Amino acid sequence: MAKKHTAQCACGSVKFEFDTDPGFIAVCHCLDCKRASGGEAAIFFGVPESDFRLISGKPKAFHYIAESGKGLDRNFCPECGARVFSTNLESFPGTVFVTLGSLDQPAGIEPMLEMFTKRRLAWARPLGLPQFESMPH
Ligand SMILES: [Zn+2]
Ligand SMILES: [Zn+2]
Repeated sequence: MAKKHTAQCACGSVKFEFDTDPGFIAVCHCLDCKRASGGEAAIFFGVPESDFRLISGKPKAFHYIAESGKGLDRNFCPECGARVFSTNLESFPGTVFVTLGSLDQPAGIEPMLEMFTKRRLAWARPLGLPQFESMPH
């Protein structure tokens, strides 16, 4: 049986699913998120590794060191290049971070905070949410 939330890359070759309802949903304006997403910010949330299931495709991982100084793997579809999830986060062991835009049904899943607002560009308006200059504490 399919899990509650399903997601995929742009070409549909990478598919994954999980049951956990997203809790800590962050809009992150950091430089890494800008570079990796190509946008002003990235929106993502954590899912326990034990619940996360890859259904199809062979995502490729790119390891790098984030602005925080901690390592992580960004996984993307080698066919279409879409970024799909992050794993092996030194700061959050056992958690997979999924990007909101990968979800098949993103409606109703809303951000709860904004972080790295010191990197927010002047034209981007703050949402009516808790604001954090860098990492939430
Ligand atoms: Zn793809
Ligand atoms: Zn970020």
